[in-house]
Amino acid sequence: MDHVVVVGAGLAGVRSVEALRAHGFAGRITLIGEEPHRPYDRPPLSKAVLLGQTDSTVVDSDLEALDVRLRLGVAAKGLRDGVVETTEGELDYDGLVIATGASPIRLRGEGSQHVLRTIDDALALRARLVPGARIVVIGAGWIGAEVATAAAKAGCEVIVIEAAEAPLAAALGAAAGGHTAPWYERAGVDLRLDTMVGSVDLGGVTLMSGGRIDADVILTCVGVRPAVDWLKGSAVTVEDGVVVDEHLRTSLADVVAVGDCANWWSRRFGRRMRVEHWDTALGAPDTAAATLLGEVAVYDPVPYFWSEQFGHMVQFAGHRGVATHMVLRGDPRADEKWAVCWLTGEDRLTAILTVDRPRDLVQGRRVVEGGQRLDVARLVDPAVTLRDC
Ligand code: FAD
Repeated sequence: MDHVVVVGAGLAGVRSVEALRAHGFAGRITLIGEEPHRPYDRPPLSKAVLLGQTDSTVVDSDLEALDVRLRLGVAAKGLRDGVVETTEGELDYDGLVIATGASPIRLRGEGSQHVLRTIDDALALRARLVPGARIVVIGAGWIGAEVATAAAKAGCEVIVIEAAEAPLAAALGAAAGGHTAPWYERAGVDLRLDTMVGSVDLGGVTLMSGGRIDADVILTCVGVRPAVDWLKGSAVTVEDGVVVDEHLRTSLADVVAVGDCANWWSRRFGRRMRVEHWDTALGAPDTAAATLLGEVAVYDPVPYFWSEQFGHMVQFAGHRGVATHMVLRGDPRADEKWAVCWLTGEDRLTAILTVDRPRDLVQGRRVVEGGQRLDVARLVDPAVTLRDC
């Protein structure tokens, strides 16, 4: 293999370059990215950047030492056998890494709506978060909650509109997500549940119910779609992202996919997974690089995610889709620090959510990995160390 092209210069893309070199690949590597910026981290965009604590989140990677040809402001437009078509001409490849991430969904309507995916989005939004500004955040998911936190801190009047019956309902289910609802009120944020936005209009949003909410700033945070349109018409199978096997290989032998855009087969959970989390973009490239270079490697992590919202460190590990029931560790109404555990077959942990209990998260993730049985009577007692349950 002489030339590997990596499409998408985000975290998964740059980690793919590093992994290829770490696995001994000495040929040419070209990294192309649609954005004009060097690869940067996105988690701080809705945290430190919005809070005004930093303007740059560039990934710490020595691209010069990695001897990679970095082509920024160049987008892939199509793929055919051994050739990536780009906005700047064609690129031949022997091996290809697809790392194009995901793009935010926008709602219909003529009004101006912010989204938050890029550093440019974050800086533009931050400039609007001034005391007294009326900001409507559509969607009480992870990013909506973090933006509401920053906007309330900046002195804005914040309304969060959520279609489901609880915040984080899509990620955690309404029962677990509902435990975070009181945080909004305490931060002075007006949370409107069971409320659907019909359209984003000039100076406000119109609700499905017909009502209207005026706003100076509207942020749409209703999720993302894998950025894979450029693969239309190619031989790469796409279905909710790029379909890859447990080695992260696509339907083409010389093409792998990583990060937010990859829909991989998880041996551990016996199902396909597409995980839009930083840890996946960080970890998957090692397997993908090994696969591309002819080694045998399997990607089968216990997915991990964190969020910082309303003064809490929220962490999640595992996959709750296979759980039969959940139990609380601590009482969210009484305790500052609590956790939710999802179990299968009565006593096996399959996912854990922790609030300001980082040790539970680390130990819980290991238990999910190891698959050992737990004593649930001890698990529900937050005073008992999780690894001793
Ligand atoms: P991306 O970071 O999206 O990078 C893909 C790159 O490919 C982009 O630069 C894009 O412009 C480029 N691209 C797309 N299409 C093309 C094309 N056709 N040609 C060339 N280039 C293209 N995760 C956590 O675990 N914890 C958090 O707290 C957290 N906070 C987040 C906060 C925000 C505001 C956002 C947006 C995400 C957050 N995430 C968090 C998720 C995490 O950042 C993503 O999972 C991670 O960025 C995925 O990396 P990636 O490289 O797969 O994709």
